Amino acid sequence: MQTHEIRQRFLDHFERTGHTVVPSASLISPDPALLFIIAGMAPMVPYFLGQATPPSDKLTSVQKCVRTLDIDNVGHTTRHNTFFQMAGNFSFGDYFKAGAIEHAWKLVTGSVDDGGYGFDPDRIWVTVYNKDDESRALWRDIAGLPDERIQDRDGEDNYWDMGVPGPGGPNSEIYYDRGPEYGAEGGPVVDEDRYLEIWNLVFMQDIRGEQSPKYGADPVGSLPQKNIDTGLGIERVAVLLQGVDNVYETDLLRPIIGTAEQLSGRSYVGGGDDHGPASPDDVRFRVIADHIRSSVMLIGDGVTPGNEGRGYVLRRLLRRTVRAARLLGVTEPVMPLLTAQVRDLMSPSYPELAEDYGRIEEIAATEEQAFLKTLSSGTKLFESTAAQAKSANSSTVTGQSAFTLHDTYGFPIDLTLEMASESGLQVDVEGFTKLMDEQKARARADAKARKGGVTSAPVFTELLETGGPTEFTGYSELESEGTVR
Ligand code: ATP
Ligand code: MG
Ligand code: MG
Ligand code: MG
Repeated sequence: MQTHEIRQRFLDHFERTGHTVVPSASLISPDPALLFIIAGMAPMVPYFLGQATPPSDKLTSVQKCVRTLDIDNVGHTTRHNTFFQMAGNFSFGDYFKAGAIEHAWKLVTGSVDDGGYGFDPDRIWVTVYNKDDESRALWRDIAGLPDERIQDRDGEDNYWDMGVPGPGGPNSEIYYDRGPEYGAEGGPVVDEDRYLEIWNLVFMQDIRGEQSPKYGADPVGSLPQKNIDTGLGIERVAVLLQGVDNVYETDLLRPIIGTAEQLSGRSYVGGGDDHGPASPDDVRFRVIADHIRSSVMLIGDGVTPGNEGRGYVLRRLLRRTVRAARLLGVTEPVMPLLTAQVRDLMSPSYPELAEDYGRIEEIAATEEQAFLKTLSSGTKLFESTAAQAKSANSSTVTGQSAFTLHDTYGFPIDLTLEMASESGLQVDVEGFTKLMDEQKARARADAKARKGGVTSAPVFTELLETGGPTEFTGYSELESEGTVR
């Protein structure tokens, strides 16, 4: 089943059961501090908080998401994209746990002829919050799941809230057992690659106080109106329904790898039978497919490459794409071909990409040209820095070198980190961050002198920390991600 159909089936399933279909919101979060939408519920927050009235008390959507937090996973795990599509159903005071479980079970295990995904019910495992006996009982009664396929997890994994006093509640996740070739049976499904998480159901029922039930506190009250928020990963369902090894080999990404194979003259080996770690070249192929798609989707929503915030994330994605292609031996510019391919693959669901293609292609191609001007001189600088470090018996690239690479040669820090780790070196990220902070402070002082201070009101900040166990990751995330590595 093709990805476009998986997407449509989700919406049709929920439309049949009285949900109003709402279009995806833009990837750009309305809160400037937050960068991107990372979950389908993000645009629904005003409804959950009672600040706005939803068009109906049952909604469904397939939301475009970007999680830069997952950027280091790309190519290495079987299941993480930077851009992905999260399908969701939402109830505002209408059905609750039983309804959510019933809807999900019907779609997941319903026959393909009846509009379902047709998964074998014997391969479904779920997790529940260990204080939520009600959900455990519902999984048993509605889905007939045996107790051993309903795993208890503590609040850190299976309790959702917004990081501040307000709505909260247990969640329950659905996993698919990929079979013995992916590992032994029966370990914790959240830890074992054998089990692929496809869907997260959040049951908003509590009011949390200063302390979160996530970390053991009791809720301070019950919500007058109980809500449902769910998120299903379309790309992950595609992995399973297309019988491929990983998200990069599904129908909307594998053709991009094919183009990169043609451009480079090298071959992608792929998941294969051993399901072991990908080779360095395979990781590059996957990075190209993932990152160019995310880039096109971001440019389509109005992001342009720049040195901070959203623009910087886009710049990183585009430059990592270009470098991965160089490492595969490509010498030609790659953007014209790759962006056109993303347009062709994605426009059946996102027709605006085709309408706006001229602009998208130009932005990507211009960024590539700019980077190619400094890539080889920056690479030379990196190599001499690396050689110096090694001859001084040090395993660390200095913060100053990383800063110069960033500031003069336009090397995003994670590119430098990647190059360092390829040479068996670490980077003094703390030193780099300090220099960046100093530079930012100078820029801020300049700006302040020009027009007075500005602060943004981070409406969504807390929320997104919890839209999943994920949070906004822009530049600061990267800076704080680890000091030396
Ligand atoms: P994981 O544990 O695999 O990183 P998650 O628990 O962070 O996933 P949720 O925040 O629960 O994910 O998001 C809901 C659903 O969105 C997940 O069940 C999954 O199907 C999908 N999803 C989450 N992150 C990604 C990603 N980086 N790429 C593709 N799909 C994703
Ligand atoms: Mg998870
Ligand atoms: Mg999850
Ligand atoms: Mg995650």
